[in-house]
This record gives sequence, C-alpha cells and structure tokens, in this order.
Amino acid sequence: MDNNFVNWEIQNADLVGMEGSFKKNIFIKNGKFDSIQDELSNSDVALFDARDLFLYPALINSHDHMIASYSPRVGGKVKYNNWLSWDNELKSSLVFSERQTLDISDLYQLGAYRNLLGATTTVMDHIPHFVNRSQIDGLLVRLVKDYTLSHSICSYSLGWGDGAEIEYSLAKQKKIPFVTHLGEGFDEESQRSFESLKKQNALGEFSVLVHCLPFGTKEAKEIAEANANLVWCPSSNLHIFGRTTNIESFIDAKVNISLGTDLAMAGSENILTEMKLAHSLLQETKYKKNAAQILFQMVTSNAAKSLQLSKNLGTVDVGKSADFFLLKKKSENPYENLLLSEPRDIVLLVKDGKPVFGKGSLESLFQELQVVSETIYLGNKDSEHFQILGSPKNVMKKLQSSLGYKKDLAFLPLVE
Ligand SMILES: [Zn+2]
Repeated sequence: MDNNFVNWEIQNADLVGMEGSFKKNIFIKNGKFDSIQDELSNSDVALFDARDLFLYPALINSHDHMIASYSPRVGGKVKYNNWLSWDNELKSSLVFSERQTLDISDLYQLGAYRNLLGATTTVMDHIPHFVNRSQIDGLLVRLVKDYTLSHSICSYSLGWGDGAEIEYSLAKQKKIPFVTHLGEGFDEESQRSFESLKKQNALGEFSVLVHCLPFGTKEAKEIAEANANLVWCPSSNLHIFGRTTNIESFIDAKVNISLGTDLAMAGSENILTEMKLAHSLLQETKYKKNAAQILFQMVTSNAAKSLQLSKNLGTVDVGKSADFFLLKKKSENPYENLLLSEPRDIVLLVKDGKPVFGKGSLESLFQELQVVSETIYLGNKDSEHFQILGSPKNVMKKLQSSLGYKKDLAFLPLVE
C-alpha cells in the first residue's frame, strides 16, 4: 500500500504549531507535506475542507511496551519502592498468564489500536530488537526502528542490550537514541542509578531517560547540561509507586521532556489520557498557566527531538511525513482544545498521507484515498461511528477464540 500514494489537499485548516494556529491549505504528495500555503492550489486532487477544525502534528508516544498491550492494569493497591516488586506482582497475576497465551502479533495490533485512538502514529516501543523486529513492517503505527537500549541501570536490570556503555557508544556513532529506564523506584539502587549511568559514559544527547523518579534539581541540571532527554510517564508512576518525577525541577532546568503512556498493564489508556493527568499535576507547579502548551510540545516536537526523528516528524513542515490529525474546536485555544479531546473528538488521523482513523461520515474519503477500513463504535452504539484502518473486530474475535470468552479491553472500547 505504501507505494500506492494518493495526492490530496486539506483546505482552510487551523494549523497548530508552537506559536499558535494559522489558517493554511496543505497539499499532500507521496505521503509528505508538499506545500503549506495561504492560497489554494489549482491542482485537480481530492479535497478535504477542514474549516473550523484544528490541525495538529500527529502525536508521538515516547514510551510504551507494545507486547504488554493488554488490560486490566495489574496491582495499584500496594505502592512499591522499585519496579521489580511490581513486575513480580505482574508476572504472578492471572491477567499476565492470560496475556501469555496470545500471539505476539495480536498484542502488537492491540497496541497499535490503543495508540491510534490517542491520535498517535509513532511509538517508541522499549524492548530488545529481536522481539519487535518481525512486527514493525505492516503495523498500523510506526515503531521507532533505530535505537539502542538497556532495560535499566541497576543490579536487577533485565539483560537487554550489551550494557549501557557499549549501547550508548553505538547510539552516538549512529546518531540514534539510547533508551533506558532510569531511577524507576526510590530504593538505594534507583537513587544511585544516575551515578552509575555517568560512570558507564552513557549520559549524553542521545540518552532517553525514562522516569528519573528519585532525582532533584542537581540531577536535572546535569541532565540538561548533557543535552539528555527525559520521558515522563506519570500515570504508570502513580499506579506503581504512588509518586512521580519531580517534573518542576526538570522543566526549570530546561531538560527536553516528552511524555509516554508506558505499558497498558500499568499506564494510561492512551496519550490523550496521559496528557490530562500530566496537566493536573502541572497545576501544582509554577507552570500551571502554560501547562497545555508545554504538554503539546512534549508529545510532538520534544518527542521527535529526543528520538532523533525531527527531520521527518514532530511538526507540520514541508518535506516531513504527512502525519497529522484534525480536531473539533471545543476551545479557541488550540492547546487547551487538545487537552479537552478524547478519541471520539478526532475527526481524522492521517499517517504517511493516508487516513488511519476518523469519523464514519468520512468513509468516502477513506475509499477515495484507497484505504481499507472498518466501521466501529466506541463505547456507545447510539453515538457516532468511526472508520479505522484494518480490522480491530477480527483481532478481538481472535482474542475471544484464544481465551474462550469475550474480552473487554479498557483501551479499545469497541461495541458491537
Ligand atoms: Zn517502561
């Protein structure tokens, strides 16, 4: 399908960037933004009138573990001191043994739908390459292909990668991200993990440090000076630990921060939900007034920068991949509007110039652009219907036949 590009134009959209929103006509050619201008083009192509809609760059989820795209969330009653204790609870749970009976490709498809409903087309799937390599091609969302990794920096880390020192030097050589959990807990090892990262020469502009829970002003400043990146996953942090990153210190230090949902079995339903929680936490800081705009940046340009993808993603600019979405206006402020939005407010989500999710009333656009989609209802049969790429109903049917009962997933609330 990818070599079968269709050219089309979005007219009269309110294009959202860091400086607010501006009315533009956007021409899409071969899956890229070909022109962004005030005038209409005269070409004879399919048109979409986006009058009264905001157009945003598609969102980027900076931290997920797609293989754990299952629900309900595990634990949450006991608040732990490090990730391993929760991981033990997870791995001894019935939900986990149920998940283990499923095909990896089904879990990745569920993960793709979870992200698409959150207006997300690009996901950093933190897992060794041998796990997701076979899943990347043909998946409905784009997984970051090029990265090196560790699981975490502690004595009880899982054995992902060849160690932080080697993995970081490889990342630096190839100019790709080195992704690791860091300080995922409050025990001594978690507190010492930053020193250990530095000793292994793994702190630098290619470091993507997920969580950093026990750190304060001093560490935040050092991370900023190294031009390293933080990924904040408040939903999963509060679920597992009852506390989250000292985010105000990291914003003060001007660290490049992006947002992640973390795995479905601990984190949020999607990045839109994550943003709402993050926004409520930012209300407790001096950044409460700009919180909506700060969060928009975290899920777009900051994420692209951190994942070394800015050349192709993160903003709506000529030459970049045509990944964007359109939202109804609930607020005249585009950033507040994004925060108020839920999956059902997405009018159209586009990846590589092709619609992947949108209002049922746009079915003819899906057809005109040669996209095979399925009609779905979200949470309520009486409400509007939607078109979505592929067939989530088939995935759910396969799940039902594997499990022997009809499974409900919080992050994919399909109704028959
Ligand atoms: Zn994680």
